[in-house]
Amino acid sequence: MKNKRALIYIAAVLGIAALMAVVVWIKQLQRTGTETQAAKTEFIMDTVVEIRASGPDAEAAVDAAFAEMSRVEKVFSRHLKDSAITRINQGSGQWVPVTDEVMALLEKALHYSELSSGAFDITVGRLIDLWGFGTDKQKIPPETELAQALATVGYRSVEIDKSAKMVRIPSGTIIDLGGIAKGYAVDQARKVLEAKGVKSGMIYAGGDITTIGAKPDGSSWRVGVQHPRESTALIGIVEMENKTIVTSGDYERYFMDNGIRYHHIIDPHTGYPARDVISVTIYGSEAADADALSTTIFVLGLERGKALIENLPGYEAVIVDQEGNVWVSSGLAGQITLL
Ligand code: AMP
Ligand code: MG
Repeated sequence: MKNKRALIYIAAVLGIAALMAVVVWIKQLQRTGTETQAAKTEFIMDTVVEIRASGPDAEAAVDAAFAEMSRVEKVFSRHLKDSAITRINQGSGQWVPVTDEVMALLEKALHYSELSSGAFDITVGRLIDLWGFGTDKQKIPPETELAQALATVGYRSVEIDKSAKMVRIPSGTIIDLGGIAKGYAVDQARKVLEAKGVKSGMIYAGGDITTIGAKPDGSSWRVGVQHPRESTALIGIVEMENKTIVTSGDYERYFMDNGIRYHHIIDPHTGYPARDVISVTIYGSEAADADALSTTIFVLGLERGKALIENLPGYEAVIVDQEGNVWVSSGLAGQITLL
């Protein structure tokens, strides 16, 4: 009797052990057997975009992520004929119907305008056109034209009717989401990868880098922060998982005149390129927010930028001033290796 009970006990223990071994084995099979890897590069939103992923069908996931970025570009570019932003800009002072998606990104942009007393301002479109950055018509605009363009700038003039889902801007004002849309596109691409079962991935879009999980070998992603004056050098390396890094720099789009650099990040209060710093890198979880913040802090400059980021939970910054001094916010100090 005693022996029988002992035998049943041993059989039960062995049974459970065997079952557990089978579960572990199946899990391992799932992990190794069906895992694929893919990496592709395309030119989207005026930048080289590279997406790397590993997952059950990495190639399909990467293709879907690129398709999503193209869709976002078609909605938010003001240079494409039928985009939502073009329709708002051509609204000539009338209410224009928009989707929830457009409304949400406009609201996010306006949030950063409020947070920075207008250092971030999507109504800078006319000013950007006047300076001609990124075109063959780059030049210092005449003062009278600058004054005219400045008169069309002011985020408070963007009206949003949430219940009717309509947006209205004054006739003459042009909105430009260049300071936030790329980050949003990267967030969207990341969500597509995640929905397709990608547990390890990376999206590189110009100055924006987003990571999913750790690298396929299990170690953290090591992301370089671009040196603002030496195109092949880095100022530091940040170790990250499931985080994003976005940089705004005066070296991205600029021209020189009489030894002075004129670049594409404009102080909406003066109409001239912001001068206090030369690069701002933001670290955090959402790329749209990091993108808006990098432009915002670039315009605010070192002291006001420091104050903003140190009071903002979830986001960190690396700021390089005109002398090349590198400042790192307190929450990132332990995670960045300065070179
Ligand atoms: P980023 O490279 O993210 O700093 O964005 C720069 C782009 O944002 C420019 O090319 C413009 O399209 C737009 N932009 C420039 N100045 C501002 C500003 N003060 N607020 C919002 N967007 C801006
Ligand atoms: Mg930006």
